[in-house]
Amino acid sequence: MGWPFFYLYNLNRNRSKTTIIMRQKIVAGNWKMNKTLEEGQKLTSEIVHMVNDEVIDDVQAIIASPYIHLATLAGLVNGSSKVAIASQNVSQHASGAYTGEISCDMLKSVGVEYVILGHSERREYNQEDNALLKAKVETVLAADLTPIFCCGESLDVREAGSHFDFVCNQLTESLFHLLASEFEKVIIAYEPIWAIGTGVTASSDQAQEMHAVIRAHIAKQYGGEIAQGTSILYGGSCKPSNAKELFACEDVDGGLIGGASLQSRDFVDIVKSF
Ligand code: PEP
Repeated sequence: MGWPFFYLYNLNRNRSKTTIIMRQKIVAGNWKMNKTLEEGQKLTSEIVHMVNDEVIDDVQAIIASPYIHLATLAGLVNGSSKVAIASQNVSQHASGAYTGEISCDMLKSVGVEYVILGHSERREYNQEDNALLKAKVETVLAADLTPIFCCGESLDVREAGSHFDFVCNQLTESLFHLLASEFEKVIIAYEPIWAIGTGVTASSDQAQEMHAVIRAHIAKQYGGEIAQGTSILYGGSCKPSNAKELFACEDVDGGLIGGASLQSRDFVDIVKSF
């Protein structure tokens, strides 16, 4: 697989130095509602040691734990540039009377760098729609955190043949209001719902096909350089046995991993699958 680096020269007159945007290799583990604090500390320590020992510099590993563990786990990864911490959600509001919610400032204050937005489970069980996610993306970017924006179709949508339109529309409605200078900070995760937690993985051809469509859709809105600089991850029953084939696809820049991120050996083997 070719890993060309694409350079975007930011012509913003307010900045004196040139900014270089590069497509990154990323593997993010989404723990969902799993692991006690003690279990999470053990898993994180194992991952940090293995990644530091075994993984070359150009892959970013990310751990997305439940909110309640974030501060502790951020302390454990502190000092490793190869492992970062993400939350699985955030409020669309900056602060205020929103009982039970967590803000971007709170996440930043404990060392979180990335925020997963629009996971299909949140879309389904918490009624998160494209309009709400549009607001959340804005809040995350305004706080200088990095959104990992999830998109993906159900089996019904795929069988009806409208999966490309469906996924492109998710991007259009939640992201395409952003300025180019904002959009270039967003990471996309394509996660076909029929492949999440089912053991059924999209074939590498299916993943590549959709990732190429997503990249072309971004190019239409923001131009080829930004599209080529956007990291697009695949998620859905990705495991050590299939990660190499998926990551070898030209437009697949890594993975968002659910079940296989709960075992350190499996997760780190996926991180090493480029
Ligand atoms: C996910 O929930 O983001 C996911 C990809 O899950 P799994 O790897 O278990 O299919």
